[in-house]
Amino acid sequence: MWKRYGKAAGIFIFSMTDAELLHYITTDDPDEMEALFAKARNVRERYYGNAVYFRGLIEFTNCCKNDCFYCGIRAGGKKVERYRLSLEQILRCCAMGDMLGYKTFVLQGGEDPFFTDERIVEIVKAIRATYPNHAITLSIGEKERGSYERFFEAGANRYLLRHETANDAHYAKLHPASMSLARRKRCLFTLKDIGYQVGAGFMVGTPFQTPETLLEDLRFLEELKPAMVGIGPFIPAADTPFSKEAQGSFEQTLRMVALSRILLPKALIPATTALGTISSHGRERGLMAGANVVMPNLSPKAVRKLYALYDNKICTGDEAAECRLCMEGRIRSFGFAPDMRRGDAAV
Ligand code: SAH
Repeated sequence: MWKRYGKAAGIFIFSMTDAELLHYITTDDPDEMEALFAKARNVRERYYGNAVYFRGLIEFTNCCKNDCFYCGIRAGGKKVERYRLSLEQILRCCAMGDMLGYKTFVLQGGEDPFFTDERIVEIVKAIRATYPNHAITLSIGEKERGSYERFFEAGANRYLLRHETANDAHYAKLHPASMSLARRKRCLFTLKDIGYQVGAGFMVGTPFQTPETLLEDLRFLEELKPAMVGIGPFIPAADTPFSKEAQGSFEQTLRMVALSRILLPKALIPATTALGTISSHGRERGLMAGANVVMPNLSPKAVRKLYALYDNKICTGDEAAECRLCMEGRIRSFGFAPDMRRGDAAV
């Protein structure tokens, strides 16, 4: 099973063979799964106890120049009602978030050409000026090194860029030919090199995914060693090429969360909204499988429904304060403790 092969600078490092990983990627034996989740919880507890970090998510644009086949806000989605938040609206979201106790703001959006480097720098600087000690996380896709550097200098600390799949052929089946896995991976290594805390990750159950490609995802995470790992089930989105495909498996998503925790013990791993969308206590069960972060929504209620990456997304009708309280209650009922500190990766 999971063999501990060493201890470096206080970190326990676990190794698993390809055969072991493939076994746990696919097992549907309830006892084996529970053993896997218990192991992941145990690893998480060693570094983070039962604390769960809160990140305030601001979805500031649903305009996108890319045409990812799975995504509900892809450029080709002609029925999507597009929106952009103004700097003032973004700052109002931050003020609300700060009032609710958040110490991390995550700015996520499509790859929207309106938000030039200058505009992103302006936004990051404005947030940084008001909140000198908060973490600012960007999730705005693939950029040139110079752009990432400018955002970092302006005050951004973290960057989320899921690799989506670490297999070239699979990547090509999920994206148009203009996009490449090599470029996405390069972005991740560049971000890390600049000094960002970097988040990679992938969806579970995308069309053409196999246990072997999931194994490659785990091996890529081991290679990149990101501070954060975002994993959620694929959920079909209307008016996309994959609208008729099956959604990802809830249990398999939990297994991938648990395996990521075991392989990257200190990673910050969110229990994602997508996980909560396909099962009523999905996020709580994500925490029980080794996750330690939640990302409640801070976006203005008026635009929530429009940031529809996939169908039936939860929490689109609530105010930020309701999401904050609801999440706290959910977390506590499963024995976890909300932690409103900034929550950088454990060192
Ligand atoms: N433009 C940014 C943010 C993308 S949206 C970027 O390129 O990183 C954030 C994540 O939502 C994506 O990385 C993807 O993994 C996930 N996502 C998109 N469509 C989805 C779907 N149909 N089901 C589940 N997750 C989806």
